[in-house]
Amino acid sequence: MRLLVTGGAGYIGSVVAARLLERGHEVTVLDDLSTGHADAVPPGASFVQASITEAAGVLSEGFDAVLHFAAKSLVGESVERPGLYWSHNLGGTLALLDAMRQAGVDRIVFSSTAATYGEPERTPILETDPTRPGNPYGASKLAVDTALTAFAGLYGLGAVSLRYFNVAGAYGGFRERHTVETHLIPNVLKVALGERESVSVFGTDYPTPDGTCVRDYVHVTDLADAHLLALDACAPGEHRIYNLGSGSGFSVKEVVEVCREVTGHPIPVTTAPRRPGDPAVLVASSEKIQRELGWTQAHGSLRDMVADAWAACAKPA
Ligand code: UDP
Repeated sequence: MRLLVTGGAGYIGSVVAARLLERGHEVTVLDDLSTGHADAVPPGASFVQASITEAAGVLSEGFDAVLHFAAKSLVGESVERPGLYWSHNLGGTLALLDAMRQAGVDRIVFSSTAATYGEPERTPILETDPTRPGNPYGASKLAVDTALTAFAGLYGLGAVSLRYFNVAGAYGGFRERHTVETHLIPNVLKVALGERESVSVFGTDYPTPDGTCVRDYVHVTDLADAHLLALDACAPGEHRIYNLGSGSGFSVKEVVEVCREVTGHPIPVTTAPRRPGDPAVLVASSEKIQRELGWTQAHGSLRDMVADAWAACAKPA
């Protein structure tokens, strides 16, 4: 298939683009490099440096489907700058959907998020559970999910939204790296690399066993492979939504401990206030995607995810 991967110079988009190329697809990456890196575009992919609001020209060349990763994705930043999140994530995606319609591209796999659920009433979270996002990031992604349902019904779009929980690990040297790093595992590994003195633990008074937030981690390779299954599952007029998690969670303190074991570094921690917008526990049931699309986790251990991320820090792509 001829595929457009928006945000394919970012962490997850680059791994998905690499896996698509391995399967013999023709891949064009569209990325404005606002947070991505040109050297993360996998060899073999064509690259267009542009915003998703400028996708019409590229799409008119003829594509079978879009895999849409390009987005603003930081919870804390979204609380401080909600307008940025609404305009990029919702406005940008509506422009992309419009361009797809004009070009006759009728399949999309969308990078949604666990943040659409907000503070859950129960765990693991099911796709049928209420969506009450606690921050503008989750709200903007939920609005896109709502738009996709409408577009599927009205225009026959075939859409699959994958609601990621936390993603970790690396593939082929493609790893998580942001100019301003906010994510837990990369920040902890920066301490082990000697780039930071300590890691801040945001909140130790949550209603969890050790007082720190609990998150559900999936290896980026397993996550990427779910996109390949989702692409095949796109059916005209249908919008399907699947959670992607492991069904179990690790606290911030447990993650730091695994990082200590993997790196052999003592990794000092400091306690900091809660980060606005963070739910206490986010753990997914992925039973639906397993049952309907046959998704399985080949790399389920947090230790392996941290080890792969650590190896990629030492030997980047
Ligand atoms: N976190 C932390 N210190 C950091 C970065 C993150 O304590 O330097 C916490 C954060 O508050 C959350 C968890 O680690 O409870 C996971 O945060 P991350 O930003 O990695 O992912 P998110 O769950 O926000 O998508």
